[in-house]
Amino acid sequence: MANLPTPPMPLPQTSPVKILTRDWHLPECWTLENYLKGGGYQALPKALKMAPQAIVDEVVKGNLRGRGGAGFPTGMKWNFVRKETSFPKYLVVNADEGEPGTFKDRAILEWAPHMFVEGLIIGCFAIDCHVTYVYCRGEFRDGPVARLQTAIDEAYAKGWLGKNILGSGFDLEMHVVRGAGAYICGEETALLESLEGKKGYPRLKPPFPANAGGGLFKQPTAVNNVETLANMPAIIEKGGDWFSSVGCPKNGGTRLFAVSGHSKKTGVFEAPMGTTFTALLNDYCGGMRDGSTLKAIIPGGSSSAIMTAEEAEWMSDFDTLKTKKTMAGSGAVVFLDQSVNMAHALANVTRFYATESCGQCTPCREGTAWLSRLLDKLCRGEGEKKDVDNIHQIARQMEQKTICALADGAAMPVKSYIEKFRGDFDALVKG
Ligand code: SF4
Repeated sequence: MANLPTPPMPLPQTSPVKILTRDWHLPECWTLENYLKGGGYQALPKALKMAPQAIVDEVVKGNLRGRGGAGFPTGMKWNFVRKETSFPKYLVVNADEGEPGTFKDRAILEWAPHMFVEGLIIGCFAIDCHVTYVYCRGEFRDGPVARLQTAIDEAYAKGWLGKNILGSGFDLEMHVVRGAGAYICGEETALLESLEGKKGYPRLKPPFPANAGGGLFKQPTAVNNVETLANMPAIIEKGGDWFSSVGCPKNGGTRLFAVSGHSKKTGVFEAPMGTTFTALLNDYCGGMRDGSTLKAIIPGGSSSAIMTAEEAEWMSDFDTLKTKKTMAGSGAVVFLDQSVNMAHALANVTRFYATESCGQCTPCREGTAWLSRLLDKLCRGEGEKKDVDNIHQIARQMEQKTICALADGAAMPVKSYIEKFRGDFDALVKG
């Protein structure tokens, strides 16, 4: 472990409530020794004495929402899997963090791997899963995967994984699998295809992964995010009611925000769910860097609709942002200043989606490519006024017509950037 690269983010800043970053101020906070000092692995024996349904009930009470992007209620997903009568059941962890701007799951795997492992064991016990897979982004090879594997090996050695865990009669195998670097494998059904050894093509739904026929090897499967599961020890120790009280209505707990852009401080910050963007910027990130004025905010990864500086007072929880026609997504926040031309920023984002479309659906394959070509043309100074309208029109035509959400995720920023910053696009039109 001594040769691991330094993580590319600073230590997280102060949060009123620390759940996930509790130990991050300690040197070598990722070690088993330090995790135990902070109270680690105390939730596991408690959970193993509970009825599995009681664990799920606490998660429902805690209003734990999936932190991968969609914000689906975790307890509801686990109840779907529990209701299925087909065995085996699987819990698959989506650690394929690939949304541009997002780097908080890798921070958990590097800085709090045991918290994640403990949470995952508890989650598996709750849904009666005996073999679990952690599907990690290929680029996580050195830092996050190495630390995760060490934590898993230590958990096996201590009897927290394997046969008859802590004498409870519960058996669990945990496997780490690395992807090959495709963004689309972060989509849950593409991830399952990849895990089965196939090309990472998203599947038509239904059946959904939680149901028989739709999950891993066609078995009922809960696909959960790293951060979601890392919250489990705190929920078991302090209860669902406490967890719920930390966040805002229907959005329990804290959230790890991966902040980049033009704020004074960037990095991973833990803040209660619902924290406004103004508070995130000023209280956690120290405001905008000297000489910078806030122009725009990407609130939840590059596929979320853009916000203006005037909208910074919005709360950052899943429900508020949905009503505002954007999304909390993966918690990746980018603060952009006045130096950014939004057409250039959008061209960069769109080029990514054009490259990463898996190509199964025509509106996505052709739409993202056309968007990228037209935006690049505009940015080269060769665009015409009608191109801006065409770009907006193409994005509208891509929505809700495809197998997975990549096309919608590519269209949403296009529409919002043009609608909110039309002047930046018109300024690039030839002549
Ligand atoms: Fe592939 Fe795009 Fe269709 Fe998703 S929407 S399945 S990425 S072509």
